[in-house]
Amino acid sequence: AMRHLPYFCRGEVVKGFGRGSKELGIPTANFSEQVVESFPSDIPTGIYYGWACVGNGDVHKMVLSIGWNPFYKNIKKSVETHIIHTFKEDFYGEILSIVITGYIRPEKNFDSLDALISAIQEDIEEAKRQLDLPEHLKLKEDNFFHLPEGKIVKNH
Ligand code: ADP
Ligand code: MG
Repeated sequence: AMRHLPYFCRGEVVKGFGRGSKELGIPTANFSEQVVESFPSDIPTGIYYGWACVGNGDVHKMVLSIGWNPFYKNIKKSVETHIIHTFKEDFYGEILSIVITGYIRPEKNFDSLDALISAIQEDIEEAKRQLDLPEHLKLKEDNFFHLPEGKIVKNH
């Protein structure tokens, strides 16, 4: 999984499958099918971490899942980013910039919703710890996140 990292990606946030991630307290910003298709086809599914920024906003820690897209009978991947930050409002239609810096674990099935939620909480804690290490922290300051004013526009 590490072969492709760090992986830089930018694209519009689209409506997901309404799996109710937000109700679980872990909203995931979904990339469009087009952005997902641009990912290396051999990048493994699973849980990753890195840095994320909405529009021209601040750079925050994130966890990301690359999984199978139920809309396409699980033949296409989906890429969903949970930004470790509390936003005042939703940001559908905005441009999300991410750099994926590390891999946590493969996709798993869980026996209960509680088991799923605690696994995600552990992923978030692991991401926070890893991202404080110099090799990951340095990517927060990458020029990728510092585009000239006005370069990133809302894309409705
Ligand atoms: P959907 O199925 O449409 O992806 P979610 O329940 O996963 O719905 O919620 C995702 C949306 O929540 C994002 O597209 C974004 O607009 C909003 N959102 C608010 N806070 C966050 C956050 N911290 N991380 C990711 N998305 C967030
Ligand atoms: Mg989502």
